Amino acid sequence: MKEFWSGRIQNITPYTPGEQPRERKFIKLNTNENPYPPSPRALEAIRHGVGESLRLYPDPAGTELVRALAEVYGLEEEQIFVGNGSDEVLSFVFQAFFDQGSEIVVPDITYSFYPVYADLFGIRCRTVPLREDFTIPVEPFLGGNDGVVIANPNAPTGIELGTEGIRRILEGNPERVVIVDEAYVDFGGESVVPLIREYPNLLVVQTASKSRSLAGLRVGFAFGHPDLIAGLNCVKNSVNSYTLDRLAIAGAAAAVRDVDYFDAQRRRVMATRERTMKCLEGLGFTVLPSKTNFIFVSHPAVSGRELFSGLRREGILVRWFDQHRISDFLRITIGTDGDMDVLAAALARLIGGRGPSA
Ligand SMILES: *Cc1c(COP(=O)(O)O)cnc(C)c1O
Repeated sequence: MKEFWSGRIQNITPYTPGEQPRERKFIKLNTNENPYPPSPRALEAIRHGVGESLRLYPDPAGTELVRALAEVYGLEEEQIFVGNGSDEVLSFVFQAFFDQGSEIVVPDITYSFYPVYADLFGIRCRTVPLREDFTIPVEPFLGGNDGVVIANPNAPTGIELGTEGIRRILEGNPERVVIVDEAYVDFGGESVVPLIREYPNLLVVQTASKSRSLAGLRVGFAFGHPDLIAGLNCVKNSVNSYTLDRLAIAGAAAAVRDVDYFDAQRRRVMATRERTMKCLEGLGFTVLPSKTNFIFVSHPAVSGRELFSGLRREGILVRWFDQHRISDFLRITIGTDGDMDVLAAALARLIGGRGPSA
């Protein structure tokens, strides 16, 4: 019974996170977690932070982390916002830059959290169909909206819209904020963070969850003009001034500073991705070009639903979206080379004789 619920949440359909299995042991390729551990320096910083000082509130500004990001990304501290996972940062973004009753535009196939935030905050969300090949068309995002939100590279397709496309969208919406969610950009994409100097309407959101192996710590960032960052701080300080705890600030700062480890791990993931793509193409799968730590694949002879449940029976979790145009695709996170060998063998069994057509 929802009789005690506020009118605002009575008709909301919340986001459905990927399954985190508790009993059975699965090969987990369903939530785009990194298969490699966080930087040893991050773990050391977290261990070092476990102690008497936890009785004190953390630094509300997360200065240690902001400073690390400023140094590594060559930015001013005033251009950086940090939060408890980029999902939280995105929820602040929607509250800071989009008015109730206004209309933002997003691709029809994208991160499914965007329409949930829009719903929660009373913002209309117009969807723009991706092209037939699942690339993002630029024209429909040029003006006639109250804001733009784009995941780049996009999820769950994995496809990147180049910097020139983003630049055109920024120039087509000089009076509106354009949000570029770069959750996956470290796996071969081109970041538009350098453009924040040129475009005061650009806000770039990133996360420590994927490329820095810290999904469990909950740390996200945003980069933009100091006025946008001030808007995010205004929302934050109206909700919870201490979104990042002491351990998260220390661990994420150390991870950001450990550039060599970061580069080595993301290169490993990208190498495994290329290897897996070739292997699945050899089995007859269609594999969209990916600049992320996942691949989006379909098979001409076996449905997405069948592949998804078949893999689950074999102890492999992937993500399947029962959604128009993509219901025959699986989103498969890149695990270790060993994980991907097990996956490929299971897929080969599932498609049986329906392998690559001659
Ligand atoms: C994973 C993901 C996020 C959320 O990341 P957290 O920082 O773990 O909250 C945001 N956007 C996209 C597109 C993602 O895939």
